[in-house]
Amino acid sequence: MDYTKHAFFEGKNVPLSEANISIATHGFLYGTAVFGGMRAYWNEEKQSLFVFRPYDHFRRLLNSGKMMSMTIPYDEEALIQLSLDLLKTDGWKQDIYLRPTIYKADVGIGVRLHELRDEFCMFVIAYEPYVKNDTNAHVTISSWRRIDDNVIPARGKVAGAYANSALIKTDANRAGFDEAIVLDNNGHVSEGSAMNIFMVRDGVLVTPPITDNILEGITRHSMIEIARKELNLEVVERSIDRTEVFIAEEMFMTGTAAQIVAVTKVDHRPVGSGAMGPITTKLRNTFDDIVRAKNPKYLHWNVEVK
Ligand code: PMP
Repeated sequence: MDYTKHAFFEGKNVPLSEANISIATHGFLYGTAVFGGMRAYWNEEKQSLFVFRPYDHFRRLLNSGKMMSMTIPYDEEALIQLSLDLLKTDGWKQDIYLRPTIYKADVGIGVRLHELRDEFCMFVIAYEPYVKNDTNAHVTISSWRRIDDNVIPARGKVAGAYANSALIKTDANRAGFDEAIVLDNNGHVSEGSAMNIFMVRDGVLVTPPITDNILEGITRHSMIEIARKELNLEVVERSIDRTEVFIAEEMFMTGTAAQIVAVTKVDHRPVGSGAMGPITTKLRNTFDDIVRAKNPKYLHWNVEVK
């Protein structure tokens, strides 16, 4: 962490070393915070930085806030402007990751959502891949279940709910796996610890619907559109059973931090041929061009930092 870089904190950009909250802050004590995870990509040819789908990321952040009774004095456009200003402050010239958060900022004890002050903050870090083994990941089926939408909003990014993701990730890594597939309480495949999931069956791309306790992933949404428009693939959103993952032709996971991770083994069983498949390869390459503002058809997803 580079503490000399800037963060947006309590209404202005300050060095990260000065962006600090009290240990008695509500959001820290009770996990009453919602966050986003956005990326900006460096385009070498254009010598410019492009934020990927910031409007959609901030809309999801504000919606997560809505579910948790949070209000801030910024709409999507204002939040985009704050991010561009922040990125310009440090003149980033590399791939980066932006972490915006809305949190219950009052100090003191008392579990609730109402009658508490909300604050918005945001910091930037240099990008590091979430799953290192992203072309041949070996995943397990987690013994943990995905949080249910009737427990904590599953379609939003609620900080406290990430204790669930942390349990999933650590147990999978300690058992020697790169990542885990998580089932929901109905026994259906929901997603990974912080990634959505796709499989190819009989040439059709299948992913769980947004009503199966998944986070409404922006990479997932991009993938569905790219698969349909660029690869002419049929894409179906439906529940996935546990054993379908053993007989899928291809499988991959998607997320802002992870990008597209090819899953080639599930609990020691090869997926398809046991190597990254042609559809996954094509989607990875197409996506990488799109996020770097190299595909003229998708420039509406790229916001240049200037
Ligand atoms: N599921 C969970 C639980 C996540 O934390 C993330 C990362 N934000 C995703 C899926 C992928 O979402 P996105 O593509 O919007 O990053």
